[in-house]
Amino acid sequence: MDQTPSAPLHVVVFGRPGSGKSSLGERLSAAYGFVPVRTGELLREAVRRGDDLGRRVAEHLKDGHLVPDPLILELLEQTLKDPGHTSLLFDGFPRTLGQVPLLDEFERTLHFQIDAYLDVQVGRAEATARMTGRRVCPECGTTYHVVSKPPKVEGVCDRDGTRLERRPDDTPATIDQRQDVYDRHAGPILDHYRRCEPGKVRPVDGGKPFPAVFAEACAALGLAPPAAH
Ligand code: ADP
Repeated sequence: MDQTPSAPLHVVVFGRPGSGKSSLGERLSAAYGFVPVRTGELLREAVRRGDDLGRRVAEHLKDGHLVPDPLILELLEQTLKDPGHTSLLFDGFPRTLGQVPLLDEFERTLHFQIDAYLDVQVGRAEATARMTGRRVCPECGTTYHVVSKPPKVEGVCDRDGTRLERRPDDTPATIDQRQDVYDRHAGPILDHYRRCEPGKVRPVDGGKPFPAVFAEACAALGLAPPAAH
């Protein structure tokens, strides 16, 4: 990777709903100290708080539609602070071509630079099947899977003991809608980065078991896998 040893690494993780991009982001953040910026989770938090922004985004989330770009800008303006020497990991942003210049602008104003765009690749059928077993902690947002990533105690978050839930947008109709949205938007965004920032888009085979996906992502980012893995 082209950077001085002390420069923080900044990453965007792409992947269809059910690809495991959020689990990968959580694991990378825990192992390497990335600060995760998860727009989906930030939006769900805003809805839970019931604040002004939360009320305006709730309907979009419920139906599996994208939240309009100006509201995503508002959300990230509230969230993003000068990263200094911390590394940022974006999960779920940018999600439309219209959000690409928003990220460019954050890079300029907050003085950081994305070093890699991970593209976690999983087929639609596999991703859809995985989503039906997904459970999340409503308190901290950690994601689990009843088969592939179960919590230590069934139905309870390992981190804070909160009872796990299905996400309200994990219904069959909404899952389908979200897969359609991904198929429509992701290709053009990745093509844009392949064209404008050659070499930074790194594919990762998300169909493998999670430890292999994690190892592949570490290699793609030029990070040594943590010893106690
Ligand atoms: P998933 O990738 O499984 O759909 P996320 O938590 O990333 O889960 O996103 C959940 C929902 O939040 C999306 O379906 C969409 O409605 C909304 N969302 C998240 N990020 C964005 C974004 N950058 N732009 C527009 N909508 C977003």
